[in-house]
Amino acid sequence: MNSFSALGLAEQVVRALSKEDYTVPTPIQAQSIPILLKGHDLLGIAQTGTGKTAAFATPLLTRMLQNPRPVTPRNVRVLVMAPTRELAAQIADSFKTYGQFAGITVATIVGGVSYGPQVKALHRGLDVLVATPGRLLDHMQEGNVRLDKVEAVVLDEADHMFDLGFIVPIRKILAKLPKTRQSLFFSATMPREISALASEFLHKPERVEVAPAATTTERVRQEVIMVGAGGKGPALLDLLKKPEFERTIVFTRTKRGADKVCKALDRTGIVALAIHGNKSQNQRQAALDSFKSGRATVLVATDIAARGIDVPMVSHVINFELPDVPESYVHRIGRTARAGAEGIAISLVDASERHLLRAIEKLVRQPIEVTARLAGASAESDEAFIEAPKPRGRNNSGKNANQRPQNGKANAGGRNNGPRTDDARSRRRPFTGTPTHASSPRAAEAPRTVDAVGERPITTRKPQRPGSRARERHRQSQQPQA
Ligand code: AMP
Repeated sequence: MNSFSALGLAEQVVRALSKEDYTVPTPIQAQSIPILLKGHDLLGIAQTGTGKTAAFATPLLTRMLQNPRPVTPRNVRVLVMAPTRELAAQIADSFKTYGQFAGITVATIVGGVSYGPQVKALHRGLDVLVATPGRLLDHMQEGNVRLDKVEAVVLDEADHMFDLGFIVPIRKILAKLPKTRQSLFFSATMPREISALASEFLHKPERVEVAPAATTTERVRQEVIMVGAGGKGPALLDLLKKPEFERTIVFTRTKRGADKVCKALDRTGIVALAIHGNKSQNQRQAALDSFKSGRATVLVATDIAARGIDVPMVSHVINFELPDVPESYVHRIGRTARAGAEGIAISLVDASERHLLRAIEKLVRQPIEVTARLAGASAESDEAFIEAPKPRGRNNSGKNANQRPQNGKANAGGRNNGPRTDDARSRRRPFTGTPTHASSPRAAEAPRTVDAVGERPITTRKPQRPGSRARERHRQSQQPQA
């Protein structure tokens, strides 16, 4: 007997799990499924990557099959709320996969896409609705959906919902649910506010904790590469040209940083796509699909966009910049080593980020091994890496993506990265990053002229003596990159 059927799941659901090659329940599944099949409320402390979606989806599907009830217009049987569109789409896909023999209807209601198809789906009525809170509230206010017949509700990644300011919409939504219902609450961490929300939301919950809050999964090998000023870009390229970096997520702190890294990689022939909050939902989904299918080998992401993303077989996570919030590090590295696979997380750390590294080590309760110390590259290497435009003549439109308005406000909103004068725009700088594919026509195009001024995500440049940059550039051009 399959161990999932031993847990009491419906035959249709067990069949779907076997088809997906799920043979052994993960710890959160083994603990949660029996509790949920009994109809109890659940407080689950677990990160994504632990198998928590199947832990709640499979028993909820089983209960729906055990109590068949036709869906009625504008009504929903199971409501799942998730903080991001990507996570909502993933959860809905999981319900469809695990419910493929159960004949259930599932829809995703998220922002950033048109209302029409969502309204139609809601008007028909649904077995399972997976939604982000803002758009769901809009539909409720429009009268497109009612929640008074909801049998079970799931709040996923509650701590992330809180970070994104979703608590008010969630409370409004919860107020419309019937008193008698099954409630599930999942969070990777349990700070005070989240635990207060959980006790409001749940009724005599059973608690399941699969890993202590915010501890790092042990399956991820974590490394730090210390880089000198300007060394991040070249170090990133050096890593990505290695064949074992088959499917890598690179994290940056800012959306603009993600775009810049992405463009810089693109210039060297690496197929990289960015995913962050300024991209439309369709662009985000297209980037994810390309990454999942292997068309793009690198996904460059910010924390918010990447959280909860489930891409199998991510070989490496690279922190191009450390996050300001140490907990985000745990979420980032959780993108690799998913579902039992080994994974590697490498952080490129410069002197300005040592305090962030210390905070992370404190949180994960272990020192992170420094596997390499790279000599400082030229203070401008990163800048060349992330800002060098395509050479003149290539882009006749004049709309180089790296160009910023040169009105003196270009750095507004960015950090103050030290003195920067207008003549920086016209200086010729060599491209010091190691080209990844020698055959790439773009890789061979050096030297480049930098005429862009903008916010840079790197804060390593120190004031230098006049002329020292020129000397440093000369030294760089004479030596291979460290
Ligand atoms: P989740 O934590 O729900 O995001 O799941 C992480 C990944 O683990 C997903 O790719 C699931 O398809 C996979 N997964 C979940 N449960 C199992 C299982 N029992 N056996 C194998 N893979 C699983």
